[in-house]
Amino acid sequence: MEAFSRVPMAAFENVGFAYHSLEGETAVLQNISFTVRKGEFLSVVGPSGCGKSTILSLIAGLLEPETGSIFFPACEDESKKVNIGYMLQRDQLFEWRTVLQNVTLGLEIRRKKTKEARKKLEEMLEKYGLGKFKDARPSQLSGGMRQRAALIRTLALEPELLLLDEPFSALDYQTRLSVGDDIGTIIEKEKKTAVLVTHDLGEAISLGTRVLVLSGRPARILADMPLEFPEDLTPLEKRNTAVFQEYFQKIWKELKKDEQ
Ligand code: ADP
Ligand code: MG
Repeated sequence: MEAFSRVPMAAFENVGFAYHSLEGETAVLQNISFTVRKGEFLSVVGPSGCGKSTILSLIAGLLEPETGSIFFPACEDESKKVNIGYMLQRDQLFEWRTVLQNVTLGLEIRRKKTKEARKKLEEMLEKYGLGKFKDARPSQLSGGMRQRAALIRTLALEPELLLLDEPFSALDYQTRLSVGDDIGTIIEKEKKTAVLVTHDLGEAISLGTRVLVLSGRPARILADMPLEFPEDLTPLEKRNTAVFQEYFQKIWKELKKDEQ
């Protein structure tokens, strides 16, 4: 482990959360405590509807915890949150804009679209296999290319913390495997800190450096474990190791135990 990975970026302390509506209260999170550290890729896995997306909304500050608290220790000003990039299941690319115009959109909105910023993004498109498509429309891209473009657009704003909400679930299985591999590699190369939520165990294990296993709703933490592989492998390569199978079984058992 490199030293930078010990710097805490976001921390949950006994966080509890419920949605309130006219029909009543839905308790979603119970006593959730964990820390995301710099350079870490945290996978959050749990059954559908258990509260995974809610955790990301809390990190992003779109929701406030009902009990407990959330800190951003890396910020000098504790009340200020880290700069967050959010990537969703649907890629939200705009059809009337070219790929390059899509990835520069965030910069335009923030009036940060300088020549250098644009050049950097063109280089990133090139580096991650989209160079030839920079003037194409999103509809001309494959599902996997669209997700790569969406990630580059998110990275354009240089987020300190990247939140990924089931970003591959709209893709078919084959594509999902290779896009997962691409996205994981890009995030590692760009040295980003990321939190990925998914209900797909294989995705969580192959992409994460650590996994948080959640129970059914209201979600509690069933396990918080580092994911260590004997050598430096890509997400796809990890899937073919015995260690991957061991983690899979271990997490599967935790989830099954909770279902009973
Ligand atoms: P997950 O991402 O793990 O599938 P969510 O965090 O989206 O789960 O949602 C957790 C639970 O809260 C679900 O049962 C969902 O139906 C409910 N929920 C989500 N958003 C709202 C909302 N705005 N109002 C009421 N209930 C909600
Ligand atoms: Mg969700």
